[in-house]
Amino acid sequence: MKVACVGGGPASLYFSVLMKRADPSHDITVYERNPAGATDGWGVTYWDELLENLYRADHESAQAISANSVHWDSWVAHVGDSAPVMVDHWDEGFGIGRRELLGILADRAGSLGVNIEFEREIAGEDEVAGADLVVVGDGVNSVLRERHADHFGTEVVVGRNMYIWLGTTKVFDSFTFAFVETAHGWIWCYGYRYDTNHSTCVVECSPETWKGLGFHEASETGCLTQLEKLFAGILDGHPLIGRAHAGGSARWRNFRTLTNRRWSRGNLVLVGDAAHTTHFSIGAGTALALADTAVLVAALHESTTLETALARYERARKSALRPAQRAARYSARFYENLPRYLSLPPEQMLALISRRHSRLLPHVPPRLYYRVDHAVGRLVLGLDRHGAG
Ligand SMILES: Cc1cc2nc3c(=O)[nH]c(=O)nc-3n(C[C@H](O)[C@H](O)[C@H](O)COP(=O)(O)OP(=O)(O)OC[C@H]3O[C@@H](n4cnc5c(N)ncnc54)[C@H](O)[C@@H]3O)c2cc1C
Repeated sequence: MKVACVGGGPASLYFSVLMKRADPSHDITVYERNPAGATDGWGVTYWDELLENLYRADHESAQAISANSVHWDSWVAHVGDSAPVMVDHWDEGFGIGRRELLGILADRAGSLGVNIEFEREIAGEDEVAGADLVVVGDGVNSVLRERHADHFGTEVVVGRNMYIWLGTTKVFDSFTFAFVETAHGWIWCYGYRYDTNHSTCVVECSPETWKGLGFHEASETGCLTQLEKLFAGILDGHPLIGRAHAGGSARWRNFRTLTNRRWSRGNLVLVGDAAHTTHFSIGAGTALALADTAVLVAALHESTTLETALARYERARKSALRPAQRAARYSARFYENLPRYLSLPPEQMLALISRRHSRLLPHVPPRLYYRVDHAVGRLVLGLDRHGAG
């Protein structure tokens, strides 16, 4: 089979690896508009389950991913001027730099005979006309999908809050939340390390706070300087970094939750963020993109026609995604309603963050929810108050 993969993100690259493993005679080319090693975004988090699935699917890349990841098993929340609250052994998480992840997948794909063309932007399907299958893995703003938005039934829900995805040289030992009160409302960030020298910092606030703090008219440098002051308490003098590569830029955005009614059109098939997105606060987009590709490769090799394979893939993934999509909706809503929870004592606030996917939480007074959930033992025990500084 001759396959063209549009976009060289985790979805396309992992698809090409699994497809070649399943049958080395496939002729596969990945087209990526950026140069090799250039990517937007910093580190991504993932959980145990992903690693287990990756080992099952392709031992070599899983081993490299594991060896290049860092992990944490403690979480800390700084809420306003209160003493930080920490919880140990809550949920073990892993982080890996996006650049490392893409490098590992590109090397593995290359070693299996996949052809990767960097600095090649695909503007329409005529450029990949000779392919039997076109894997559309060009992300949330997919050009190929947008050309047929009516056919795919694309729907986008734009999140209310503003966020910016940054890096820092501060290495956080624990997954770190910091909530800072300003004259214009609360602003917060989550920080997690992704290699031995860097962490990711995602900053988020309401549009009112964003405008009140002047971020709508600040330069990139001005914005970073102001954020460094606001989060000085957790950065320990380390800078925030806006650009992941020379051509990149740090931009405030609203998260776009994207769904598609159909996932294929003829020989075009959507994977990863081109097909669906889930709010970044559940840290699952990459894992879901990789899972898409494993199911697609299996469907392609177990079905008699391309049409049946693509239908089977779409059915399986749409149903598997529902819990994560629901969790992401509630998680995004939790942060959009954050002031509702910020009057709680910090340890209760941190505990409720762990329950932010709950469909009940938005409808129950937070203190009552905490008391009931704690009484039935579902909330984290063993919260410690650590002295400030
Ligand atoms: C702030 C933030 C934090 C996140 N944190 C996490 C996290 O912690 N854990 C996690 O699992 N997920 C996280 N995600 C989600 C994750 O980044 C995505 O779900 C994942 O990258 C999707 O992979 P993909 O391959 O589908 O798309 P992408 O990673 O977007 O890759 C698409 C690729 O296609 C290329 N491209 C685009 N158009 C073209 C074209 N026309 N021609 C050629 N190439 C093209 C792009 O340059 C890009 O390399 C986060 C997202 C955000 C916004």
